[in-house]
Amino acid sequence: MHQRSAHRSLLVVGSVAYDDIDGPFGFHKDLLGGSASFIARAAAYFTKNVSVVGVVGDDFEQKYIDELSALGVDVSGIERTPGETFHWVGRYAPDLSTRETLDTRLGVFATFQPKIAEHQRDAQLVLLGNIDPALQLDVLRQVRAPALVAMDTMNLWINIKRDDLLKTLAKVHTLMINDEEARLLAEEHNLRRAAAKILKLGPTSLIIKRGDAGALLFHGGGAFAAPAMPLADVKDPTGAGDSFAGGLMGYLAYAGDLSPKTIRTAMIMGSVMGSFAVEKFSVDGIRDLTPARIQQRFDELTELVQFERVRL
Ligand code: AMP
Repeated sequence: MHQRSAHRSLLVVGSVAYDDIDGPFGFHKDLLGGSASFIARAAAYFTKNVSVVGVVGDDFEQKYIDELSALGVDVSGIERTPGETFHWVGRYAPDLSTRETLDTRLGVFATFQPKIAEHQRDAQLVLLGNIDPALQLDVLRQVRAPALVAMDTMNLWINIKRDDLLKTLAKVHTLMINDEEARLLAEEHNLRRAAAKILKLGPTSLIIKRGDAGALLFHGGGAFAAPAMPLADVKDPTGAGDSFAGGLMGYLAYAGDLSPKTIRTAMIMGSVMGSFAVEKFSVDGIRDLTPARIQQRFDELTELVQFERVRL
C-alpha cells in the first residue's frame, strides 16, 4: 500500500515564537521557540522535504527563518504580519519535572488563518503542532489525502476549546500529547485506561510523552515503549515534545513507509531528537547536529533496551 519511494513530504503547521523561560538556570528572555521551530529543525535532519506554515510579527528576526531555509526547509508558508510575534512565558520547577505557563501573548496568532499553498496540499505527512484546534481543523480542510496526520495539543486547549479539539481529533490518525494532557483529556488517571478512552475519540494511535520516563505508543495492535536517554546534563525541557515529534515524523518521511516496524524505529528517533533538545536552551540542542551524532545516540538508545528473550 505505502510504496517505498523518495522521501515523503512533511507539512508542519505550528507556532513560531519567542519564549521567556524561568527555572533553575535563571531567567532567559526572547529565546526562539514555538512548536514549528523545533519540529522543522528536528525533521530537517532526516528529509529535505519539509515545509512550514506559521506566522510571525514584524519584531521577528529574519535570521531564524533564513536558518530554516538553509536547512532545506520550505519557509514560503511562514507569513509575516504587522504586530507582535506569539510570546510564551514559562517557569520550570527546580527539578525541571514540571512547568507552569506564566503568560501567553497571542500577538499575530490571534488573527492567524493558516493558508496552505497549492504545492503543500498534497503533503503525504502532516504534523499539526500545538496551536488552536480550530486552526488545526482549518488546515485539514485544505490538504488533500495525507497518508498520516498527527497532532499535538496542550492543557490550555483541552480546557478552553474542548469541543473544537474533539472535532479535530476525530479527523487525525495520531495524537501526540504528554501524560498530564492525556489524563486531562480522558479524565482518567491511569494511562492505559486513558489511552483506551482517547482511542475512542478518533485517532488510531496515541503517543504519550512522559519526559525522562520516555514515550508510549498505543494503537490497535498493542503498545510500544521508547525509552528516554538518561542524560547527565539537562538545561531546558522546552521543545522536547516538539523535537520528538519532528524526529519521528522526519524519520517516517525519510523511511517512506508506515509499517509498524518503521513506526517503532521512528519513536526511537523521536526520543533521540528530544534528548538533544533538552541539553541546551531554545533550539540550540538540535542545532548543528551531525548524522554521526544522531546515529551514535540512536545506537546508545538501542543498546539501552537490548535484552535477551528467554523462556522460563
Ligand atoms: P514543548 O515543550 O514541546 O511542549 O513545546 C514548547 C513550545 O510550545 C514553546 O516554544 C512555546 O512557544 C510553544 N507554546 C506554548 N504554548 C503555546 C500555545 N498556546 N500555542 C502554541 N504554541 C505554544
